[in-house]
Amino acid sequence: MIFDRLPPFAPFLRPTRRQALGLALGAFLAAPITPALAGKGEVNVYSYRQPELVRPLFDAFTKETGIKVNVAFLKKGLLERLRAEGDRSPADLVLTTDIARLQALVDAGVTQPVRSEALEAAVPANFRDPEGRWYGLTTRARVVYASKERVKADDVTTYEDLASPKWRGRICTRAGTHPYNLALFAAMIAHHGPEYTEAWLRGIKANLARRPQGNDRAQVKAIWAGECDISLGNTYYMGKMLANPKQRPWAEAVRIVFPAFEKGGTHVNLSGMAMTRAAPNRENALRLMEFLVSPEAQRIYAEVNYEYPVRPGVPLSPVVAAWGRFTADDIPLSEIARLRPLALRLVEKVDFDG
Ligand code: FE
Repeated sequence: MIFDRLPPFAPFLRPTRRQALGLALGAFLAAPITPALAGKGEVNVYSYRQPELVRPLFDAFTKETGIKVNVAFLKKGLLERLRAEGDRSPADLVLTTDIARLQALVDAGVTQPVRSEALEAAVPANFRDPEGRWYGLTTRARVVYASKERVKADDVTTYEDLASPKWRGRICTRAGTHPYNLALFAAMIAHHGPEYTEAWLRGIKANLARRPQGNDRAQVKAIWAGECDISLGNTYYMGKMLANPKQRPWAEAVRIVFPAFEKGGTHVNLSGMAMTRAAPNRENALRLMEFLVSPEAQRIYAEVNYEYPVRPGVPLSPVVAAWGRFTADDIPLSEIARLRPLALRLVEKVDFDG
């Protein structure tokens, strides 16, 4: 069973002071009552990932195992909800994007470590927590979108080069404080240290065609409109723009270029999963986690959102494959999560968005 609204988990919560607090805090414990939701043969998922992305996978899992998957699709407040529910949370598994969100779950103490040969064999070490508190599922590269008309294919080389005066007045980007950019800047710190990164951020700021604004797609639109020549963006937006009649012309005005760090590869972030600390259906949750890194699930999961499977050797969708090949940077994402607060401080120090 899969449902889009918040699931009726309330009956499993004993009336404690914490529940009273939860009721006082918000409506999520006041959902209608359905018994046995967290019973045997089920697994409960809190998902920031959209229904169309995960539904086909959960259906396939249920077909294979007979285990029902109950999903609460959330837009926000996932961490707060897990925190409020504490050890009585009905959630077994969390699906989300971005290393920052995964690490925030770990830091809040709402996850538990999972050890599994199947998971460790499927997910490369830099795409999982060393202690097994989160595992990557798909990756996305943060790349340069370059004007086909005004930028030559080999003009874009490294991330470091984005601060070069040759790009003066030619770069568009979303806010420096956005998690996608903070992760990239944290990777720069990991490669070169904070002083270099601060100077690099000042260099990029000096190269901006306009103040940081809008989302990744808005930058591609600005290239299409002639406002700038290159922008920073996540790879999957190319697929989304191509699939959208209104945005398709923006996508067709640019090509994806994969920059690399001077002594590394292309910056990637991920979507991933974590088992909750409470996990009332731990066995089933583990089975679902292992299913999600299976070759077939990996292929589907990556294809639907134009992402890269985290499991090596799984074929890319033709749309994604057409963007070309790259080598992912090898800085562990756990290190990037660790450096993120420093990246934020530097963004504020250089007034990147000002
Ligand atoms: Fe996104």
